[in-house]
Amino acid sequence: MAMQITTGTSELRDITKMERIGAHSHIHGLGLDDRLEPRANAQGLVGQAKARKAAGMILRMVQEGRIAGRAILFAGPPSTGKTAIAMGMAQSLGSDVPFTTIAASEVFSLSMSKTEALTQAFRRSIGVRIKEETELIEGEVVEIQIDRSLTGATKTGKLTIKTTDMETIYDLGMKMIEALTKEKVLAGDVIAIDKTSGKVSKLGRSFARSRDYDAMGADTKFVQCPEGEIQKRKEVVHTVSLHEIDVINSRTQGFLALFAGDTGEIGPELRNQINTKVGEWREEGKAEIIPGVLFIDEVHMLDIECFSFLNRALESELAPLVIMASNRGMSRIRGTKFRSPHGLPVDLLDRVLIVSTKPYTPEDIQQIIEIRCQEEDTQLTSEAITVLTTMATQTTLRYALNLISTAQIIAKKRKAEKVDVEDLRRAYTYFMDEKRSVQWLKEQQGTLVF
Ligand code: ATP
Repeated sequence: MAMQITTGTSELRDITKMERIGAHSHIHGLGLDDRLEPRANAQGLVGQAKARKAAGMILRMVQEGRIAGRAILFAGPPSTGKTAIAMGMAQSLGSDVPFTTIAASEVFSLSMSKTEALTQAFRRSIGVRIKEETELIEGEVVEIQIDRSLTGATKTGKLTIKTTDMETIYDLGMKMIEALTKEKVLAGDVIAIDKTSGKVSKLGRSFARSRDYDAMGADTKFVQCPEGEIQKRKEVVHTVSLHEIDVINSRTQGFLALFAGDTGEIGPELRNQINTKVGEWREEGKAEIIPGVLFIDEVHMLDIECFSFLNRALESELAPLVIMASNRGMSRIRGTKFRSPHGLPVDLLDRVLIVSTKPYTPEDIQQIIEIRCQEEDTQLTSEAITVLTTMATQTTLRYALNLISTAQIIAKKRKAEKVDVEDLRRAYTYFMDEKRSVQWLKEQQGTLVF
């Protein structure tokens, strides 16, 4: 989409909005109905009904706070939507529920140990919702609401206070209430204003006849006007991850490291102190823990030390839901000579819920291709869609989806509006899928030096 902007020198320029389209940007949720039944094609997801339903059940348990410290494994052949479904789960979680994605190979780096990288990923996936009450500040605007339910209207008055002294605020509030209700004060409506908190409450007409005024205490003043409240405090709620709290409090890092993304190692003493502090906030009702989700793609790339760490970390009180994905069947556990299903040690496998994804039918594949064409703003002729669907069944869905944008560039070069079979054929010759690439390498063996 093109739009025009005016610069300071009134010069007009055309700016073309660039949108980055990610591999999963067409996914907006799990596409389930209220009974967690998957709709055939909804929120960008198609087919894979059982896995989506299972994901929905897990999500519900997360939302009800019943599944912290558990692990799920999405297991299935390449390009069967394991990551896509995890993304759908992320989209369905509340905006302040953390969702962290890592590829297992990211854990191996020179800048920090494997366990530190995993600890950081865990702590990024735990949210701390902090509630703060702000005190009145001089010069702040205080709102007084008068609910004139008896006259059918609500009036709001704003008052800028020059003091934090409750007595003065109360007097000003009183004047305000009188000003707001001037014309229509209903005789008999008794209002109590608490001098300490500034709260104004309505006691009803019958109260005027009771002799019980004294029982309200000397701090309460009574007036006759409709109910309202002088808001003394505002509550501010914000959510940060445990990792962010770690970084901000780390003397060597400081919060600027959050922008750089390079947080280095954080000492265990600091983390313990922070856990204790957050525990105190919880007890005082100042904070709430929100266990989020940690998604570990290609989990078979972790090694035995990482797996032992995971096993232990899942026991912790502050553990997120861990979702892992693997497209391997029986494979060697890295760092050992043993083989096991999905390359996961048996003790870890024992505690995970396994959700399997199945290869797609050609109908599902065609629908996914159509969704992606829409997402990428590309039109394919109907023959091209059929050919691309067949290509996807013979290679992988991911490869076929990647061809959409490359074929579009080829089609544009010949000034065509729609991508046709010939464009796909050319894209297919330029870019290899995995099978052809492996075959080519085999043929070249002996002549190539890496
Ligand atoms: P791998 O094992 O190779 O990591 P995967 O199972 O994680 O593969 P995805 O990356 O989720 O596969 O899928 C490949 C592509 O197909 C992605 O662009 C994804 O968004 C899309 N896709 C997969 N399944 C679906 C689906 N059911 N509905 C819509 N899009 C899908």
